[in-house]
Amino acid sequence: MDEERTLTPELTQQDAEIELSLRPKTLGEYIGQEKAKENLAIYIEAARRRGEALDHVLLYGPPGLGKTTLAGIIANALGVNFRVTSGPAIEKPGDLAALLTNLNEGDVLFIDEIHRLSRQVEEVLYPAMEDNVIDIIIGKGPSARSIRLDLPRFTLVGATTRAGQLSAPLRDRFGVILRLELYAPKELGLIVRRSAGILGIAIDGDGALELASRSRGTPRIANRLLKRARDFAQVVGDGTITVESAQTALNSMEIDELGLDLIDRRLLTVMITQYNGGPVGLETLAAVVGEESVTIEDVYEPYLMQIGFLGRTPRGRVATPMAYAHLGLRAPQTEGGGQTTLELYSNH
Ligand code: ADP
Repeated sequence: MDEERTLTPELTQQDAEIELSLRPKTLGEYIGQEKAKENLAIYIEAARRRGEALDHVLLYGPPGLGKTTLAGIIANALGVNFRVTSGPAIEKPGDLAALLTNLNEGDVLFIDEIHRLSRQVEEVLYPAMEDNVIDIIIGKGPSARSIRLDLPRFTLVGATTRAGQLSAPLRDRFGVILRLELYAPKELGLIVRRSAGILGIAIDGDGALELASRSRGTPRIANRLLKRARDFAQVVGDGTITVESAQTALNSMEIDELGLDLIDRRLLTVMITQYNGGPVGLETLAAVVGEESVTIEDVYEPYLMQIGFLGRTPRGRVATPMAYAHLGLRAPQTEGGGQTTLELYSNH
């Protein structure tokens, strides 16, 4: 289903083709995420002055926010190689050992989806992160023996959409833990204009803001909408993306003025019409809309929560009065001012 979805924040084949050219290469080019940038700038400078490898860094936050980009920037700033892999790609301890023993002094090893490493692979990683050594088993059966190999100093940059799923021993071995936030429309507007400049797309300020405000706080989506909007501007307009041509493009993709698509609206509508606004369990929601529960948690919910349409409670998800209003549905009346929809409806 995701393959068809314009708004998926996950990387698609088409994105991959342009992302390389759009990826900022320095912290100066990297827009937004001020807190993470500030911290990183200091750690990078300190590591450079001491001539040491940077402490291991964990980046977490929803897909498409710039974790891989930031990892590349770190390697670039340190003047070292950038090696990229992912949790699911490292199947056996031997795969990780091969990666680690091939690193050069100071290199950055980026492991995307690090929460998906198997326990055995993780165990190889611990001594590597802590003491720059790995233990390798040679031979089989009774004659098997373990030898310890020294590794070059390196920086592990791990990225995850779900920091909560990382095992505690792994999390504890990261010296720097940074959370990336969804971007404000103004920041996304700057990203859209920067990308348009690189790709040679004509866009005016309002057109950029229109795309930005419908991009779910996610640069990857903003860049994708920019490309789609260019097609519309060329066919129905004079080639420049304006508010009008942006709106035509977005409306034709059934992306509404807040950036919600059919699946978001379906999710909220189901909660409201079939479950009285909630609370609804995550698994139930996933089954009703036909998505994996992890996709709902990582991809749909962060934005719906950010715009105040959805709440998480210990008993399940709830749709807020703002969600009712957006869908043109009447929210249940609250009692005594302070009661939430959730409290009222949980008794039904
Ligand atoms: P993640 O690893 O979190 O899924 P990426 O680092 O692959 O996300 O970012 C997706 C795309 O969004 C990149 O190709 C880049 O062009 C763009 N991007 C992300 N963050 C920024 C930023 N802060 N400024 C400009 N462009 C960005």
